[in-house]
Order: sequence, then C-alpha cells, then structure tokens
Amino acid sequence: MIDFIKENYILSLIQENLFKKSLYQIENFLNENDYKSGAYICSCGKWYSILECGLPKYEFKCDNCKNIIGGIDHVPYDREGHFRIFKDKSEEEFVMKWVNDSNWLKKNCNNGKERVFRRKIFSEFKNEIENMNDDIKGIKKCSKDFFIKNKNIRQLNQITIRLIESIIYECFLLNIELEYNNYDEINNFIPENYDYIFDILRECWNCLESELQKIGIMETEIFLNMISYKIGDLKIMKIFLMLKLEMNLKKKLILLLKRI
Ligand SMILES: [Zn+2]
Repeated sequence: MIDFIKENYILSLIQENLFKKSLYQIENFLNENDYKSGAYICSCGKWYSILECGLPKYEFKCDNCKNIIGGIDHVPYDREGHFRIFKDKSEEEFVMKWVNDSNWLKKNCNNGKERVFRRKIFSEFKNEIENMNDDIKGIKKCSKDFFIKNKNIRQLNQITIRLIESIIYECFLLNIELEYNNYDEINNFIPENYDYIFDILRECWNCLESELQKIGIMETEIFLNMISYKIGDLKIMKIFLMLKLEMNLKKKLILLLKRI
C-alpha cells in the first residue's frame, strides 16, 4: 500500500503549497509597505518580513524548516532559495545602490570575496510560483489547519474529497491494526499535530457531516448507505454512528434526569 501511494497521484490529499500561500501575503505586504520594510522567503516557502530598514541584522532559524534565515550586516544569509523579494525594479535599484554605497557586501566576506545579496522582483517570483506544478506523487505531510480547511481540487466538491480522505485513512488504520504497516511507515502521510489516525478520521467525519448539513442532509449514515452500501459499511463510519448515538442518548438522559 505504501509503495502504491508513493507512486500515484492521490487526488484528495492535494499538497499544501506554502509558496502559493506566501505569494498572496507578500503581495499585500509589498503593497502596504515601502522599501524600508523587506519581504523575504525561505527555501521552504515560508516568508517573513524585516521592518525598520528592511535589511537583516541577525541570523535566526525559519520556524517552518529550521534552516538559517535573516542575515548579518544588512545582507541576507546566503543560501539557495532564501532571498529578498522587491516590489519592482526601482525598489531593487534603490536598495541595492544603498547596499553598494555602504560597502555592506564587503563586510564579513570570505577571503576577500564579496557576499551575495540573493533577490528577486515580485513579478518574476509570482510568475514562477503560479506556474509551479502542485501535483506531486504520494502524500506530503501537511499542517492541521490545511487539512481541516476546504480544498480546491480540480472540480471535486468537499463531500467527495472528505469521502476519499475517510477511505484512505481508514485503510491506514486497518493496515496498522492488521500489522501490515507500523506507525512509523504511515507517519509521513498523516497531517501534523494528530496523535492518532482515529482523530483524523473523526475530523473527516465532522467535515463530511457539516458539508452534508449545508445542503440539508442531516443524517450522514443514511446518505452513505444511499450512495453506496459499501461506503456505509465502512467500520469507522459505524463506530462514529455509534458514538453519535451514544452522545445523543447521554444528552437525552441528562434532560430526563433534570426533569425528574
Ligand atoms: Zn524555512
């Protein structure tokens, strides 16, 4: 199963593209700020800003990938994929003239070789990111936030997406229970901050239920049995139904007790 997943495009679990998420945030930032506030991006796609003069004074670690970002003496840390994004050509020229006139590239340099100020113009960056291919084989670990929110995957609606996710994660759960795989092998496929696959399934079920309610379908189990008795027969769906019944029963009991 693991090999199959690695070699195939898993539609419902579309990859989280941090670059695309950052792109629109950077665009807003650049429109709202002048050249004295700098936008930078890490090789992992996480962006950050430097205020005051817009140039880095300290090195620190990216809170997403833990690689070094920032920089010392007004020059960004030299690493592939880590660079400043200028709003346009004139902002780039203005800042680079300032950097050159101040001789910052010659400070802290290696063996007399000038330091490199990695940079890109926003339009060039935008073009690259928008043409980036999102379809990656297998399943990439994503954040919990990304997993929960609605996803745009081709023309699929949210109900279909949650159903496919439920089936995939139920297969993971069963594979572990049947000892075909251990948790470490599955770990790379499950979203961050979930300790158990069961919690992910509960999330899928909640999302599915709320999507169905939006279109007036209040009984998830009946809906599942109507579209396919095989889906309705999934063990996990039955467990959730039982849990729901149990909760409803508890609520009714409490109400009853209060009346007495
Ligand atoms: Zn990073």
